Amino acid sequence: LLEIDRITKRYGALEVLSGLSLQVDEHEVVCLIGPSGCGKSSLLRCINRLEDTDSGEIRVHGERITGKGVDLDRLRREIGIVFQAYNLFPHMTVLRNATLAPMALLGQRRDEAEARAMTLLKRVGLAHKAAEHPDRLSGGQQQRVAIVRALMMNPKLLLLDEITSALDPELVAEVLDIVRTLAADGMTMILATHEMGFAREVSDRVCFLWQGQVHEEGTPDAIFGDPQKEKTRAFLRDLV
Ligand code: ATP
Ligand code: MG
Repeated sequence: LLEIDRITKRYGALEVLSGLSLQVDEHEVVCLIGPSGCGKSSLLRCINRLEDTDSGEIRVHGERITGKGVDLDRLRREIGIVFQAYNLFPHMTVLRNATLAPMALLGQRRDEAEARAMTLLKRVGLAHKAAEHPDRLSGGQQQRVAIVRALMMNPKLLLLDEITSALDPELVAEVLDIVRTLAADGMTMILATHEMGFAREVSDRVCFLWQGQVHEEGTPDAIFGDPQKEKTRAFLRDLV
C-alpha cells in the first residue's frame, strides 16, 4: 500500500530523515519507536504531506504522492491522521465534529453523514455523547472522537501520532482498545508511540528509528525480545 523510498527531510540545517525507506502492506499495523526527536512525527507528517520531503519518493498504491502536482485534498482523504492533542473543534458538538469533513469534502448529505457518525460513535462507546461539546468529555473520550472523525473519511491508511501520551493512564486503555478493534478489522495503521507494551501487543511490525533511518525492524517479539542492533538494545534498555 505504502512505499517510502529513501526520503530525506531537513528543517534548515537539521536533517531529521536521512534516506529513510519503509514499506507498509495493506492491513498491516506498523509501530514507529525511537528516542524523542528521532523523527517519528516528521515521518508521519511527510506521509500525508503536512511536511514536504527534500528528496526521495513516497508512493501509495504505486502512485507518487511527493513532489509537485499531487492532489493534496484527495491524499488527505485517503490518509487520516490523529494527533496527540485531539484538536476537536471546541464550538461544535461531537456529532458535528465528525460530520463536518465528509459533508464538506465528500459531499455527503447530512443524514448519511450523521448515520455513519452514529455507527462509528457507537462502536467506540460514545453514541450517548453525540450532542455534547468536546470540553464536556474526558481526554480519552475526546481522543476516541478524534479517531471517529478520521474514520469518517474512510481512509486507506491511518496515521496515529502518540495518541495516548496526553492521557491519564486510566484513560489510555480505552483508546488502545479502539486501536485494537481497528487492527482486528484490518485497518492499515502506522503509529508513533512511546508505549512499548502497546506496540508489542498491537503491531505486526516494529520499526526503530535512529539517525534518520529505520535502524532495525522486525516482529514485536524480535524487536523487544531479541534486538540485533546495539542502538536498539540501548534504547530499549534505557526505557526501564
Ligand atoms: P517525540 O518522540 O518527542 O515526539 P519525534 O520522534 O516525533 O519525537 P519529531 O517531532 O519528528 O520527533 O522531530 C524530529 C526533530 O525535528 C527534532 O529535533 C525536532 O526538534 C525537529 N523539528 C520538528 N519539527 C520541526 C519544525 N517544524 N521546525 C524545525 N525543527 C523541527
Ligand atoms: Mg513526535
